[in-house]
Amino acid sequence: MNRDPDCIFCKILDGRLPSTVVDEDERTIAFMDINPATRGHALVIPRSHSRDLLAVDAEDLSAVAQAAKRLAGRMRDRLGADGVNLINSCGELAWQTVFHFHVHVIPRYAGDPMRLPWLPSPGDPAEIAAAAQEIKGA
Ligand code: 5GP
Ligand code: ZN
Repeated sequence: MNRDPDCIFCKILDGRLPSTVVDEDERTIAFMDINPATRGHALVIPRSHSRDLLAVDAEDLSAVAQAAKRLAGRMRDRLGADGVNLINSCGELAWQTVFHFHVHVIPRYAGDPMRLPWLPSPGDPAEIAAAAQEIKGA
């Protein structure tokens, strides 16, 4: 089990910082975000420290996704959420502020303050194709 002594989420895992835990299994815990975007906003993290999406172990990633799905169902059934956003930020430029991999599970309600963080508008087809060429898998 990896640990980073300076990581606030590792401190939560070790009980050195308080948290409100809402789900646990062998590989993950989930707790309430202290700055909730909407009512019920929670974070799912692997118990083993890794800094981000690119570093996280595949089985931990899978366990986090399953925990997020469990929570999403409870948010719908018990909080009356009309939808749920799963958000992961990978890297400082992508808004990551805590460098222990985590997924935000954010229940959505009619009229809540969440807004799409970009303005969808049609892209240049040639540029879309060029980017696709660069990220295409085998
Ligand atoms: P990020 O910005 O890295 O995607 O998400 C980090 C999240 O962790 C933020 O939404 C922030 O509110 C939350 N957070 C930061 N410090 C603490 C803490 O000490 N306890 C809890 N429960 N959440 C925290
Ligand atoms: Zn950590």
